[in-house]
Amino acid sequence: MIDVLVIGGGPGGLAAAVSASKAGASVMLLDREHALGGILKQCIHDGFGLQRFHKQLSGPSYAQAFIDEILLLPVDIRLDCFVFEVSCLEDGSFRVLASSRDGIIDVNALAVVSATGCRERTARQVSIHGDRVSGVFNAGCIQNLVNLHGYMPGQRCAILGSGDIGLIMARRLTLEGAEVVGVFEAKKTPSGLERNIHQCLDDFGIPLHLGCTVTRTIGHRRLEAVEVADTDDAMNPILSTSRIVSVDSLIVSVGLIPEVELLKNLPVKMDSRTHGPVIDQKGMTSVPGLFCCGNSSLVYDLVDYVSLASETAGQSAAKWAKNRGLARKTEIQVHPSGPLLFISPSLIDMDSSSVRFFFRASEELEGRTLTLCQNGHEIFKRTYSVLRPPQMETFEIRTELLDPDHAVEASL
Ligand SMILES: Cc1cc2nc3c(=O)[nH]c(=O)nc-3n(C[C@H](O)[C@H](O)[C@H](O)COP(=O)(O)OP(=O)(O)OC[C@H]3O[C@@H](n4cnc5c(N)ncnc54)[C@H](O)[C@@H]3O)c2cc1C
Repeated sequence: MIDVLVIGGGPGGLAAAVSASKAGASVMLLDREHALGGILKQCIHDGFGLQRFHKQLSGPSYAQAFIDEILLLPVDIRLDCFVFEVSCLEDGSFRVLASSRDGIIDVNALAVVSATGCRERTARQVSIHGDRVSGVFNAGCIQNLVNLHGYMPGQRCAILGSGDIGLIMARRLTLEGAEVVGVFEAKKTPSGLERNIHQCLDDFGIPLHLGCTVTRTIGHRRLEAVEVADTDDAMNPILSTSRIVSVDSLIVSVGLIPEVELLKNLPVKMDSRTHGPVIDQKGMTSVPGLFCCGNSSLVYDLVDYVSLASETAGQSAAKWAKNRGLARKTEIQVHPSGPLLFISPSLIDMDSSSVRFFFRASEELEGRTLTLCQNGHEIFKRTYSVLRPPQMETFEIRTELLDPDHAVEASL
């Protein structure tokens, strides 16, 4: 029986495994890929680690710092292992099944940390009409092909969605010699960080078309053009504004959602705002002993926050494995209201000295105050000069300020 089994060897899984091992647990880490590092392997741009290492690192360099650390610890790392089932056993432990080159791996663990990252929304999820021509890709797929395999998707590209991955790939494709005819964004404001608008589009003269979307793909076998149209305030295309743009590739970058497939067979409560499981500040889900961290719990903007929250999850999983069977924790629910896209955690475990919250606003706001109240009493407030949906905010409070008998109302 293993104490802590970690699924995923990206920055979330690495941080969780390192902290669980340092806390004295026996740890096994499984990843379906051939190398550790998760999505960071293909993120060769810089901008990682400013908070944690106080310098701008590339994705692979950031991941390497954790890989170097884990290799010094007695963590049983298995690569090329695809976890396909996690089930709860009657005694409260878990059975994890994975397929590997050596056959099926069947392990029991006292605690499981799911750190499976996130996935991209696809063209099908944003209702683009047209044939299933080749030449339509997700941005992460293109990042993988260009940065890790040296393949170019095409010569004349359009990008749908102004999230950070789309912006970074607009610059990358330009640097590799493609013409990026524009980034098309259905909303009136960009979805990516401001620094990426400047560094990836403005610096390279790539046009950003706000309030404009792709409505149709046109081509015979291979993409030849896309139809684009302006959008109204509800982001619906205004068909009278439709026009044809000649391209051979469409890169779709329309958002990330936590990868939670493995949790679907388990009685895990889901959070409709984060699209991940309901978790407490230790990353524990509604299934005792099952933890979730990194982008599979909620989509973070900075990897530094992924590492921070995942370290807590790993430590807590180790503690859970050691003290299993102790009385269940006292929990307080957190109820968001107002223009909050989400606030996490949505559960507070009172058996801990502090809670670190992460939240995003659902729209751009100026001079707004985030308030936490319990039973009409204010326990925390902070005013933000500007809040933007792409940027996550974080703050910490002490649990001694909280009344265990009342829910926390978080409002913006
Ligand atoms: C294009 C792009 C640009 C970014 N730019 C920045 C930036 O500039 N600065 C910044 O701070 N952050 C940036 N990020 C965000 C950062 O990369 C993520 O926050 C971080 O990688 C998330 O870590 P994770 O461990 O949760 O997920 P991942 O890195 O996705 O790792 C998940 C791991 O789980 C494994 N896995 C999944 N399912 C299974 C399974 N069933 N069985 C076994 N293994 C499984 C996967 O193989 C993968 O290795 C960027 C992300 C992207 C995609």
